[in-house]
Amino acid sequence: MERNKREIRQAEMVTKTPIAFWNYGNLPEAYMPASEAGVVGQQCSNCMYHDASYCTKWEEMIHLKFWCKAWMSIDIFENNDELTESDKSFLTELKKYEDINFRPPQSVADAARRGLELRAEYNRGGTAVGVARARTLSNRTKVSPSTINRMVSYFARHEVDLDAPAAKRGNDGFPSAGYIAWQLWGGFPGRSWANKIRRQMVREDERD
Ligand code: SF4
Repeated sequence: MERNKREIRQAEMVTKTPIAFWNYGNLPEAYMPASEAGVVGQQCSNCMYHDASYCTKWEEMIHLKFWCKAWMSIDIFENNDELTESDKSFLTELKKYEDINFRPPQSVADAARRGLELRAEYNRGGTAVGVARARTLSNRTKVSPSTINRMVSYFARHEVDLDAPAAKRGNDGFPSAGYIAWQLWGGFPGRSWANKIRRQMVREDERD
């Protein structure tokens, strides 16, 4: 697994964070240290959803020695007769899109980070979902195919927000909430990248 320097620093920071200060974010209530859950040989570090201290199922940073009920090894996953429809589609996507690079490029990370800075400075723009998306993008953590679809759809719905005068540099009220939200999702680099990845996904879909 290829990791950039920021991811390595983040992974180190994550695993050293005392449990009492852990931010559970999107993680389920039953997320806990594996030792407390009483499971042996199962923890985030060897779960198929784990990628560089990030859980691709819950889309949240994780502690490597924690565990949740969704834990799954790739072997169990592939040989499980009782997979839910959602599990099956996750597995299908995992294989179908294995040649696509879902790691956001630096330009997208920079735009998302700028969005977080602007939001902190002006105290407006974006929802909790947008902030979570910006955190993922700014860390250059791989995103899931469904996140790419959500990004494509977000940009298509919200381009109109940039028509507001306050969304343009030099005007009163800049940066508008819409402008900040747009940056949280990766801004224009995010839109180009999401559209490009989406086209690659469609090509793979058409091969089936
Ligand atoms: S799904 Fe896997 S990686 Fe994600 S929180 Fe649960 S155990 Fe950890």
